[in-house]
Amino acid sequence: MSYPNWLSQRAHLSGSRMALSYGGQQWTFAEINDIAADYAGRLTSLGISSETRVAVLAKSHPESVFVMYACLHIGCEMVMLNERLSATELEYQLQDSKAAYLLVDEELQGKLDSSNKISFSEIQNASPSNFKPEEEWPEDRTISIMYTSGTTGYPKGVRQTAGNHFSSAVSSALNIGIAPGDVWLCVMPLFHISGFSILMRSLIYGMGVQLHPKFDPKICAHELSAGTVTHMSVVAVTLERVLSELETAALHVSANFKAMLAGGGPVPISYMERAEKYGISVLQTYGMTETSSQTTTLQPADAKRKIGSSGKPLFLYQIKIAENAAPGEKAEILIRGPQVTPGYIGKFAERDVQEEGWFHTGDIGYLDEEGFLFVVDRRSDLIVSGGENIYPAEIEKVLLGHPAVREAGVCGMPDEQWGEVPAAFVVLHEEAAMEDLKAFLKSHIAGYKIPKVIRTVDSLPRNASNKVLRRELKSWL
Ligand code: ATP
Ligand code: MG
Repeated sequence: MSYPNWLSQRAHLSGSRMALSYGGQQWTFAEINDIAADYAGRLTSLGISSETRVAVLAKSHPESVFVMYACLHIGCEMVMLNERLSATELEYQLQDSKAAYLLVDEELQGKLDSSNKISFSEIQNASPSNFKPEEEWPEDRTISIMYTSGTTGYPKGVRQTAGNHFSSAVSSALNIGIAPGDVWLCVMPLFHISGFSILMRSLIYGMGVQLHPKFDPKICAHELSAGTVTHMSVVAVTLERVLSELETAALHVSANFKAMLAGGGPVPISYMERAEKYGISVLQTYGMTETSSQTTTLQPADAKRKIGSSGKPLFLYQIKIAENAAPGEKAEILIRGPQVTPGYIGKFAERDVQEEGWFHTGDIGYLDEEGFLFVVDRRSDLIVSGGENIYPAEIEKVLLGHPAVREAGVCGMPDEQWGEVPAAFVVLHEEAAMEDLKAFLKSHIAGYKIPKVIRTVDSLPRNASNKVLRRELKSWL
């Protein structure tokens, strides 16, 4: 199976539609296709071909999109590097991926020393060559390689194929619908699947993208109110900041605005209620790098009835809980569908991503009687104490409900009597006695889940995706 080149096909079918806007500038699909082909010619004269694997280190601006689209035209694999990573972390990914070149944004030049560095201005200054884009893209062609967040161990380089991106975009469209005038507000990083999937949807749907260099709640609230955008991707924190801005500036949300996709974790019900007041439809999702974006989505209509749920699978996917768990029973979440990666590269290349056709997510969850998915925690962080399973996320959630607690992280600690017991680390924004915290926990959860140790710290170890690293907490014990 092959697809026609998405850029040429889109320019052919709806070339005059707006593809990208940034600040005051706009580009149509025809223009962006031409620019990408021009960049592709220059990259070709610098030695990049469909056989090359390149790494891209870029901020969110039009030039980065042009470079990425040029790579699509050439057919080379792009390793998407996260600019928030440290030099050591970036070096690890460069080495692990064996990328032949590093295409780097001027602004990020100083982040890494690499012998095969090509800056964006060097691309522009290279001589144009007679370039002919690939006419067809095989379904199994790797478009992007993204490293997982490295929450549970070394980041894993995930292959995302044309088929993965296509099925992800199509099943999302089957769920939320598409219309010719749609414009997606993009404040998520392009190197992460949350941002890159917006670009893929843009090409596949013929949808405009309004790109911003970074998340700014004031600008987002203004765009929602002005009716210039129809969709937006958020995480709980950014949603809350946009809502606060709408509230303080007393803005209304335009009827043009259709939906917000919220990823990364559950959205507190209070945010859902505030969003509802503005008529904002928030769809909570569960997904990961290995599935090129969302796999399940909770419809706003179910949000109140199913607090904490990530919803049901998108049309093309199946979700089940390992060991044929009964409703409510917790075990590993398994996913099947065309968006599942064919595998990892580098250090994890040998790891099997599918067992009998099912991808093992490493997340523990359950399905309720109606088949709604609830994601509980990471399998690797499970604490087994005297034969009882304890999920750190549950304890963290309770701690975060205490008015003095700003951040909380829980991990297992060796214990002679029970094998393992929970230990908690908290960042406080006001003083609190540990006995108070313990009493608060006792009123919410069973005694065996109460951390044996609760330690106050200044900050928690987090990765570039802002996820708490529980494995590092263990070394603090
Ligand atoms: P690594 O695989 O390297 O440990 P990671 O799993 O954090 O890192 P990502 O692919 O960025 O890397 O994140 C996907 C994970 O995020 C999921 O496997 C899940 O644990 C968590 N996640 C995503 N959506 C949700 C959700 N709605 N609720 C709870 N957890 C979620
Ligand atoms: Mg993972």
